[in-house]
Amino acid sequence: MHINEIFYSLQGEGFLAGLPSVFVRVAGCPLRCRWCDTKYAWDKEAGRQYSTEQIVLAVQQWTCRFVVITGGEPMVDSDLPQLVRELKAAGKHITIETAGIAYIPDMPCDLMSISPKLSNSVPDDAKLAAIHKNSKLDLAVLEELIDNYNYQLKFVVDSVNDLLEIEETIEKLGNADREKIMLMPQAASREELLAKSPMVAELCKRTGYALSQRLQVLLWNNERGT
Ligand code: SF4
Repeated sequence: MHINEIFYSLQGEGFLAGLPSVFVRVAGCPLRCRWCDTKYAWDKEAGRQYSTEQIVLAVQQWTCRFVVITGGEPMVDSDLPQLVRELKAAGKHITIETAGIAYIPDMPCDLMSISPKLSNSVPDDAKLAAIHKNSKLDLAVLEELIDNYNYQLKFVVDSVNDLLEIEETIEKLGNADREKIMLMPQAASREELLAKSPMVAELCKRTGYALSQRLQVLLWNNERGT
């Protein structure tokens, strides 16, 4: 697998926020979201080749049960199922962070953390925007992930206007449990996070969705390796 970085930090987002976790960042993502905070991991070449055994060994340098496989987009890597099986055999709790653009069955994954990408993530560049639009949202894939894995759905909110599209997407999905849905401020810096969080908090109070923190931004201002 092409791995961009392996590091130890706190899970910053979602229902498991605050848990010390080892992060395995898989290199490569086709989406090119406008506000992506891990652009350095977009290309496969941004990663070093690791065998799944080497990844498990690297993860085990920390005495930590929680492992987060993130990206990039890990669900488009054909070696992911083997890595998940080996980490599970090593006794790890595994979260996979994905945009929900591809389905892989039967992985012993404890939490599928799905962050579907909507209009606010379309890149400014026209060529990249076309690629992004074609692959960003596949409702059939999302439904399969939701039906077959323990999951959470994290929607990134850039402005109050995003709520309509989020609600439409949830309604189209039909099978999403509202208690597993989170709204997360779009923020690449601490200032942006503090500025947008009250707006997202109000949306959460109005809809009943949970607010997802971004501890890596709040604590470390999104420094790499956090
Ligand atoms: S899906 Fe995630 S990793 Fe890929 S470009 Fe979008 S924000 Fe970045």
